[in-house]
Amino acid sequence: MDIRQELANWLDFYRELGIEEFYRRAPGSAPPLPATGDGRLAEPAPGGEALHRMMQGAAPPLAGTKPAFAESKPVVSASAPLSPTRAGASQTVVAAPPVRPPTPSLSLFETPPPKPSGPETLEQIRADLGDCQRCKLAGGRRNIVFGEGDPHAELVFVGEGPGADEDEQGLPFVGRAGQLLNRMIQMIGMKREEVYICNVVKCRPPGNRTPEKDEMETCSPFLFRQLEAIKPRLICCLGAPAVKTVLGIKEGITKIHGQFYHFATSKALATVHPAYVLRNPREEKILREDFEKIRQFLKGE
Ligand code: URA
Repeated sequence: MDIRQELANWLDFYRELGIEEFYRRAPGSAPPLPATGDGRLAEPAPGGEALHRMMQGAAPPLAGTKPAFAESKPVVSASAPLSPTRAGASQTVVAAPPVRPPTPSLSLFETPPPKPSGPETLEQIRADLGDCQRCKLAGGRRNIVFGEGDPHAELVFVGEGPGADEDEQGLPFVGRAGQLLNRMIQMIGMKREEVYICNVVKCRPPGNRTPEKDEMETCSPFLFRQLEAIKPRLICCLGAPAVKTVLGIKEGITKIHGQFYHFATSKALATVHPAYVLRNPREEKILREDFEKIRQFLKGE
């Protein structure tokens, strides 16, 4: 067959594979090719190297046939055009196209790989809570009050449940009790944004009544997950429902306030609820004393 016709066959073949551009290697720059027994050069390899070998005398495909190596899939895609890689002024070779990792696909019988496990984030917990209908408080709420503050806070306050203002705004401790709490936080040299504030129940109990046992039991797993996600150094329980839920202590707050307990990897302390102090201003002393203990603890004093 005429050498021009043979070359045209090769070029057609490569065009079919999507390889359009070729660069001629300068004579003598190619690595030596192994020879076959009959003195011909070995079977060509895919890509520009094959063309180079063919140009040096390897057997080209016959018109209408494909060389044996055509069985192996070329690593060429229409979206990844070949570009020449210059190795030197006299040596230009066809660059190998980028190899794409195969797209993983699961058959019906394969189980997906386990999700990376690690601590939950507050966002994940909030997403899991969703538009919660798990207890009867859902029917009367305007907004779920999940919690607010620094997700890495050293200090977490746990109240009882949202009141009217909190239900309205969807944020914890934003009413009068919240203003007193803010003042106490400032008194110990901290800002509200530096702490995390949440409640035992996330929905307002009707008429601001104390949350009922079943409501606290349904909601408290979300509180525990929040505490687990934040891992604060200190949890401050505000009022009896928080003390009962977090510490499992039924004794009156006036007896156990200001003492440190263990909760998982954190310490916990109970104090009176700010709303109680608003109703009983003489009890502000308890709140001040307990906040001073919080300050000392966080300072390591
Ligand atoms: N009282 C609480 O216990 N929680 C709030 O968020 C507001 C008032």
